[in-house]
Amino acid sequence: MTDTASLMDITARPEIIFSHGNGSWLNDEQGNRYLDFVQGWAVNTLGHAPQEIQKTLAEQSQKLLTPSPAFYNRPMIDCAKRLTQNSCFDQAFFANSGAEANEGAIKLARRWGQKYKSSAHKIITFENSFHGRTITTMAASGKAAFTPLFEPKTPGFIKAPFNDLDAVKALIDDDVVAIMLEPVLGEAGVIPADDDFIKGLRELADQQQCLLIFDEVQTGIGRLGELFAYQLYQVEPDIITLGKGLGGGVPIAALMAKQSCCVFEHGDQGGTYNGNPLMTAVAQTVVETVLKNEFLDSVKKHSHYLRTELETLSKNFSLGKVRGHGLLLALDTGSVDANVIVAQALQAHCLLNAPRANTLRFMPALNVGTEEIDEMISRLSGVLTAL
Ligand SMILES: *Cc1c(COP(=O)(O)O)cnc(C)c1O
Repeated sequence: MTDTASLMDITARPEIIFSHGNGSWLNDEQGNRYLDFVQGWAVNTLGHAPQEIQKTLAEQSQKLLTPSPAFYNRPMIDCAKRLTQNSCFDQAFFANSGAEANEGAIKLARRWGQKYKSSAHKIITFENSFHGRTITTMAASGKAAFTPLFEPKTPGFIKAPFNDLDAVKALIDDDVVAIMLEPVLGEAGVIPADDDFIKGLRELADQQQCLLIFDEVQTGIGRLGELFAYQLYQVEPDIITLGKGLGGGVPIAALMAKQSCCVFEHGDQGGTYNGNPLMTAVAQTVVETVLKNEFLDSVKKHSHYLRTELETLSKNFSLGKVRGHGLLLALDTGSVDANVIVAQALQAHCLLNAPRANTLRFMPALNVGTEEIDEMISRLSGVLTAL
């Protein structure tokens, strides 16, 4: 159909070329319209082509694209302020991708270890976790398929089973500087951390003089119904990373930390596009929109609605459990191959995702409506009936 030979072949893609979208709907060049419950991989916080982002991009692009990271710009300052004023953190550093933000968090923790903990540098991360695709964040990730790739990777990451506090206790020694986790394992299939586990990690980190790092690249910015996942768990990490939903579709990420951990010295951290006004202006718009009256209440309401509808569907088709928080939900499909469901749903012009062979993941725009949820459920039911 299309000449894609000039692109590096890094993943299997369907023969569709998407051209434009609006809210929960996405259109291809052939004139087909798709209902989108993937949304750029939990990225399009406000759906496709939202007015707010159009306006911000248009205005900012006429003013200033970048003065270089060696100078301040207004959106960078205002966006950092907005994020710190609405969180337990004191300072922010902007990056371009989740992986880069996580690299920054790892560097910050190691710098802290150098300064305050006899150069302790090891970081405990978790089996099946995902932190990105740079060599260091692949090393931090607990994805088995990454293990043999690109050796030698960055040393210093120790893996513990998720939700197993005793295992973490057994791995901690004086060389450990931090524990880093996703509050909900996203790529592993939407596995939420247990409340006790997160609380236990906080206590353990305090006892052992370690930092607690939350990778909220997937869970932050309203995805779980609170601005940040740590607020849902009511446990404050020392360092947090954001990505995906922060830009609502544009590439921006961030790292935030409490004052006691803001130990970078000049020359330790930087990057050409970091904090550029075009992207920080968009991030500020996204955060402001999510913080508006009733936005997060609406996420919770639609989360409840989607969950209930998925549970009914699961009962009707003898599938498994519904998991997750907010608008990051998963449905176990039991013996039915989730990849087959995703492929058939695509034929029915509905975009879904299968992070595992028996799990469907739902990550709609945070402003999704009940009619769109009904429509997705109806298309998914059609697919399941035909299987
Ligand atoms: C997507 C993701 C990343 C990587 O973000 P990129 O922007 O793709 O580099 C890191 N951590 C988590 C939890 C993610 O979901």
